[in-house]
Amino acid sequence: MKIKILLDEEDIPKRWYNVAADLPTPLDPPLNPGTGKPLNPSDLEPIFAKELIRQEISTDRWIDIPDEVREVYKLWRPTPLFRAKRLEEALGTPARIYYKYEGVSPAGSHKPNTAVPQAYFNMKEGIERIATETGAGQWGSALALATCIYGLQCRVYMVRSSFNQKPYRRSMMRVWGAECFSSPSDLTNCGRKINQDYPDTPGSLGIAISEAVEDAATHDNTNYALGSVLNHVLLHQSVEGLEVRKQFEMVDDYPDIIFGCVGGGSNFPGMCFPFIPDKLKDRKDLQLVACEPTACPTLTKGIYAYDFGDTAKLTPLMKMYTLGHDFIPPGIHAGGLRYHGDAPLLCNLVHNGLISAMAFHQNEVFEAATVFARAEGIVPAPESSHAIKPAIDEAVRCKKTGEEKAILISLSGHGHFDLSSYDAYFDKQLVDYEYPAELVKQSLAKLPKFE
Ligand SMILES: *Cc1c(COP(=O)(O)O)cnc(C)c1O
Repeated sequence: MKIKILLDEEDIPKRWYNVAADLPTPLDPPLNPGTGKPLNPSDLEPIFAKELIRQEISTDRWIDIPDEVREVYKLWRPTPLFRAKRLEEALGTPARIYYKYEGVSPAGSHKPNTAVPQAYFNMKEGIERIATETGAGQWGSALALATCIYGLQCRVYMVRSSFNQKPYRRSMMRVWGAECFSSPSDLTNCGRKINQDYPDTPGSLGIAISEAVEDAATHDNTNYALGSVLNHVLLHQSVEGLEVRKQFEMVDDYPDIIFGCVGGGSNFPGMCFPFIPDKLKDRKDLQLVACEPTACPTLTKGIYAYDFGDTAKLTPLMKMYTLGHDFIPPGIHAGGLRYHGDAPLLCNLVHNGLISAMAFHQNEVFEAATVFARAEGIVPAPESSHAIKPAIDEAVRCKKTGEEKAILISLSGHGHFDLSSYDAYFDKQLVDYEYPAELVKQSLAKLPKFE
């Protein structure tokens, strides 16, 4: 039996898969934040490359991947699919557990899958500099890598709590030539305002996005890039699921259930959207489960409504599950999962009942991560571990019922920069935050009322 299911370079997909072609109900259009009317795509041109806007609104099922992008993908793709034989044995389960490992990319996560094409299309259109935000630092480092490859400058606004907790992510960005500032910073109007109003804020992705968008909007040579949430990001991430389908064919198997963690919702959609056409046809039993933290439970506790993508209300309004654009989640160690909203494409499919969602506390997540690391060797990112926890639970359930299910985990990255979080877990310093019901209620009261 194969432990490592490997593809060749020629198997790197030649086209991205766009789930917008297969939605049961059409996507609600993004709205202009000023007027509340449907956004004109050209409104996005001051901060996005034209080709990325075209992809953002496209409903074509397949979109070609430029050869120059596939060449760069070859640095780490195709990524391996592992059969977690040792974990199965440790759990004594009849289930077959698989994980697709995106931690082999230079930045250590799935994020370069979109950072590379985003930098590429900006470079092709003559943009010289990109501004972005980062939570835990994975997106900032992925974009630093991609801009370095194509010779662009890069500025990263990093959420303050992570900026202080994860100094080595900052170092990595510097190695690839990017500048990184703690957000809220004093470099933008919205950063200065938030620093004045809330001097002790730990920062949030919503705030950092406001700063990066303002930076891009106020510099002619600069565009903005987002590492999750937007349709074109999910499109680029489809390379994961397209590869994994081939890998399952190679071992003559098919997943019964797919788990992935959700921050803004890009690695999990990347893995599971290419299975949506099957699920709509002859694989109705295939379960797709989005996994999120109890401290920031967007899909399980949020409401489905139009909201801003950022705190300063600069971004278009998107129809999504949201906890409110000024909700600042507790400082959990899975920094990449602290976002108030989720990708509209993912939310559409959750709303239509094709994808379900579950939420977990951080201590149980680190416990599962440790079981995984001791069986499989790989130290998973705290974010990814939110998908490991229910996968282990499912395998243990299969042990009781004797079901021989095939379980697939989207292992979105490694945890080599998160070891202090593991220490905090071992030293019993990790707090399990209850669902912050009151904060969410206050924040939801401020949703825009355009509908
Ligand atoms: C950023 C990140 C996530 C969360 O982002 P999504 O867009 O929901 O995928 C998950 N895992 C890792 C390793 C990350 O870097």
